[in-house]
Amino acid sequence: MQSPPPINIPPTRPHRLADRTRHDIVYDSLSVSPPPEFFMPKSDLDPTQQPDLDDGSLDWQREGLHLNAFGRALRRKFGGRVQRVSIDAGFTCPNVDGAVTTGGCNFCDNRSFSPSRRVRLERVSEQLRTGIESVIRRYDRVHGFIAYFQPATNTYAPIDQLEEIYDLAMNADPRVLGLAIGTRPDCAPEPVLELLERISKQRSVSLEFGMQTIHDESLRWMNRAHTHADMVNAMDRARGRGFECSGHVILGIPGEDREMMMQTAREVGVLGLDSIKLHNLYCVHGTPLGDEVLAGKLKMMERQEYIQTVVDFLERIPPTTVVERVSGDAPPKYLIEPKWCLQKSAIRDEINSEFERRGTRQGVHYVAPEIAPERRERPTDQTPTSIRDRIEVRGRLPVLKLQRGVAGGLHRD
Ligand code: SF4
Repeated sequence: MQSPPPINIPPTRPHRLADRTRHDIVYDSLSVSPPPEFFMPKSDLDPTQQPDLDDGSLDWQREGLHLNAFGRALRRKFGGRVQRVSIDAGFTCPNVDGAVTTGGCNFCDNRSFSPSRRVRLERVSEQLRTGIESVIRRYDRVHGFIAYFQPATNTYAPIDQLEEIYDLAMNADPRVLGLAIGTRPDCAPEPVLELLERISKQRSVSLEFGMQTIHDESLRWMNRAHTHADMVNAMDRARGRGFECSGHVILGIPGEDREMMMQTAREVGVLGLDSIKLHNLYCVHGTPLGDEVLAGKLKMMERQEYIQTVVDFLERIPPTTVVERVSGDAPPKYLIEPKWCLQKSAIRDEINSEFERRGTRQGVHYVAPEIAPERRERPTDQTPTSIRDRIEVRGRLPVLKLQRGVAGGLHRD
């Protein structure tokens, strides 16, 4: 990977943080001139409300990176290499079990997410320990682990049960430093957020929302059965509680042009997401999307267009947002298209080369929203009643047996 040119960092900051805008500080550490549209509108400036950007969130620029890469951010936060270990705790999903719809998202192989699916509780700690062992065999000097509740909707259970499952993961091994929890924007009721707020006082917690896009017509096409308003409601309630909020975004959704994808990019700053995961839309066997692609009705985005779109996207998000992924893929035996997404490290290199060619970095075209995320009002909880009711009647999960499914790695909440 080629490095960007050396960065000219002033030896001392000429002003106190409170005297400056967050964007002035961003550009202190860049050797390029900020484009004029970069500056936050003066009317929105309230220095006392600005986050402390001297907290290391821009260190990636000092390190000569083109983007605020996740692995490096974890190292800075924890002081060493930290790996995620994926756990299937047996959850299902509100758009699989009929709470909001059935069938699931058109790209998601959710055949194993049946509402009757059960995973024994001890399997949660077992999975974690097995995962930790396999990471240790692969990497030297791993400092710690994040227990990653990945398949299905991992907040979709009664609160006492969620507490028990999360607790089990945190105590499975002393090297578990925190939790990452994947969920849908319409499945984060207040009790869940309060629970995560409590846990985050002791451990690192990241709540990952499947935002995917801000365009409701695309969400309908995917059969997400939620709208972008659900995402806004969830984020405006989740932000500022002490845990991190992450968003999954899909690029290359049929019907979305470049401008629509850039509108989604701008929403990252509006919502104040702490981190994002970018995925190219890909299709796997056994899904409605896969069937359409196999029938020749749809095509996935080409590699070069994807690289260009990712760089365009990253240029428009805040420089403080951590980028957890720049592409997505599935095991080769399930993947239909595009095959290029299997070359993950080559894709990363091409994205870096494109930044290099343009002479830009993440955030150079970021335009701050008129209302800073931390100043947005906390709204009332809009979690659909149908989801709340299912949570209450569900009973205790997971208790019985493990159903081996094909979904590992093929779903995105
Ligand atoms: S992608 Fe997420 S929300 Fe959609 S069906 Fe799969 S688990 Fe459910």
